[in-house]
Amino acid sequence: MKVKVNQDSCIGCGACAAICDNVFELNDEGLSQAKVEEVEEKDKEEVRDAADACPTGAIEVEE
Ligand code: SF4
Repeated sequence: MKVKVNQDSCIGCGACAAICDNVFELNDEGLSQAKVEEVEEKDKEEVRDAADACPTGAIEVEE
């Protein structure tokens, strides 16, 4: 699974990092970025949850 955050859509709410801090972090601009490109097996469910929870649909997941 690959994951990317669309920085143009992210509003920096922090929901994704709260759900899965193994994968998401807020950068210096207060926007989310993925710490990894390839998601480990153990983090996949949380990444899907984060993508569902994102209010702007900024998280792109490729299964
Ligand atoms: S949940 Fe969406 S809008 Fe909120 S910080 Fe994460 S990527 Fe950005």
